[in-house]
Amino acid sequence: MLNLVLFGPPGAGKGTQAEFLINTFNLIHISTGELLRSEIAAGTELGKIANQFMAKGELVSDDVVIEMIKGKINDNPEAKGFIFDGFPRTVDQAVALDRLLNEKGTPVSAMLCLEVEKEELINRLLGRGKISGRADDQSQKIIENRIEVYRNKTEPIIEYYSEQNKHHDIKGMGTIEEIAERLIKKVESLYNKQM
Ligand code: ADP
Repeated sequence: MLNLVLFGPPGAGKGTQAEFLINTFNLIHISTGELLRSEIAAGTELGKIANQFMAKGELVSDDVVIEMIKGKINDNPEAKGFIFDGFPRTVDQAVALDRLLNEKGTPVSAMLCLEVEKEELINRLLGRGKISGRADDQSQKIIENRIEVYRNKTEPIIEYYSEQNKHHDIKGMGTIEEIAERLIKKVESLYNKQM
């Protein structure tokens, strides 16, 4: 199986690029942000609690997102592989993911980290906010808080995957197609090495 962690700050283009990767490599896309937004849209209890954190740009609790991931993995026993987008976001989540996948005998293959400058992130998110209406993309203050949370709580995961020799940086500036090509080439080269 090919299990990819697509990593990077808010606005790095994870969701956009995940689309290219799932089509190219026939993977199942798991985005915790999307799963949480569908809980909010459905008006569930979980969604109501999650929304209080998301609206401020804070993280939802590890327990909640880990349970969601577990459910999604178990729902797809025939998957050729998964692409994790927006997860893990804390070292504890990364440890939990390793545990879940190791139980299935199919570990994380690689972590691909999209690198984008802060100014560009803010511009992309404000632009997206105008179209999508996502509450957490509307205010520069909330966006800056999300980037801050990323630096403090999420970035330490890079070290975690580096120690396992699974971390790869990908330049996340340029056109969508250029970035997709970089990612696909990287995955192909890793895949060939595995064979
Ligand atoms: P972005 O990467 O642009 O911030 P996401 O859709 O991945 O967008 O996440 C939106 C929000 O959902 C986050 O700011 C956070 O509040 C919540 N969230 C998503 N994934 C996780 C996660 N793995 N752990 C905790 N909170 C999460």
